[in-house]
Amino acid sequence: MDEALAKKLRILADAAKYDASCSSSGAPKRKAGKGELGSTTGAGICHAYTPDGRCISLLKILLTNYCLFDCAYCINRRSSNVARARFSVQEVVTLTVEFYKRNYIEGLFLSSGIIKSPDYTMELLTRVAKSLRRDHGFRGYIHLKSIPEASPWLIEEAGLYADRLSINVELPTEASLARLAPEKDGAAIQGAMAQISERIVEAKAERRRFSPAGQSTQVIVGADATTDEALIRKSAHLYGSVGLKRVYYSAFSPIPEGSAILPLKSPPLQREHRLYQADWLIRYYDFSPDDVADAADDGMFSLDIDPKLAWALKHRHRFPVDVNRADREMLLRVPGLGARAVDKIIAARRHTRLRLEDVARLSSALKRARPFLIAADYTPAGLTDRLDLRSRLAEPAQQLSLF
Ligand code: SF4
Repeated sequence: MDEALAKKLRILADAAKYDASCSSSGAPKRKAGKGELGSTTGAGICHAYTPDGRCISLLKILLTNYCLFDCAYCINRRSSNVARARFSVQEVVTLTVEFYKRNYIEGLFLSSGIIKSPDYTMELLTRVAKSLRRDHGFRGYIHLKSIPEASPWLIEEAGLYADRLSINVELPTEASLARLAPEKDGAAIQGAMAQISERIVEAKAERRRFSPAGQSTQVIVGADATTDEALIRKSAHLYGSVGLKRVYYSAFSPIPEGSAILPLKSPPLQREHRLYQADWLIRYYDFSPDDVADAADDGMFSLDIDPKLAWALKHRHRFPVDVNRADREMLLRVPGLGARAVDKIIAARRHTRLRLEDVARLSSALKRARPFLIAADYTPAGLTDRLDLRSRLAEPAQQLSLF
């Protein structure tokens, strides 16, 4: 690789690192045919993450970090004093194909600052995906970040070639957008997401290809005063209204020469983690947005206990639950019991009355579950109501596990 291209790559890969929404989960399995490149099957595909949770197995770059907009929280904003670079369409295509052949990557995550116009930028992004698919028979994963203000027909064309399209909500309220990203249009973002959602549904019904891995979005956490409850309610609304696959929560990181209206520090990383846990409660544990909101205090989740435990501690009268009799919905509310453990419990109790040691075999977090359940040979004997239960179950700061 020549030095000029390597320099662009350094700048544009670094500029892309702030986007967390690069997972490929949900992509259809696909293998290359003769004369084609890549596959989305096989070990390691898009499941490699850096210690802070960022996906690293995709070539994750911006087409350019020039941008017409001036979003206060963004390192690439118009007024930012950073080194700028711009790839040509052909350069991104060549890099993707070459890296793929060398097994460095399994796919491409491509985003961009807005240059000239939203349509012009969207067209360039789409040309990359189109060339990879058409000219190189590329069958690896492609995630295109879409420009919400671009014409609908351009987003429709992008969906023909990309596995996933995403549009970042970034800030969940109109007031925050107006303050921190005044050139962004909340209605345009919602409209473009709704358009993608409709095309996905239509394409599925007609068995044709359109963004088969769905759409996702990212919200920034801690750049404004939005509470955890408001973020989760926004996510729940998006899951319901536009059928999102995932909402990614990205803790705001202060940027060099950042705007004076931004906080000086990142929020604690646990906050991002608690939001992911609350998001899981909605998607996989039958919690309603009101239930999750109930787990928060003044709209914020506790950093030392997870939202499911917080909910259980506020609703002690609903516990302990009998693992041999309770319905699935209530078992899912037991702290320490994951959805998979609950399904195993339900399957196992068809054949036997479960004792505590049976539950221990089916769940990896019995310590947390114990005060909240009854088994054939065990009752928590007042443990559920102990005033010190919260402190007994609180996690040390560095020991953050999912439920
Ligand atoms: S439009 Fe995107 S790239 Fe441009 S300043 Fe805003 S967040 Fe950054």
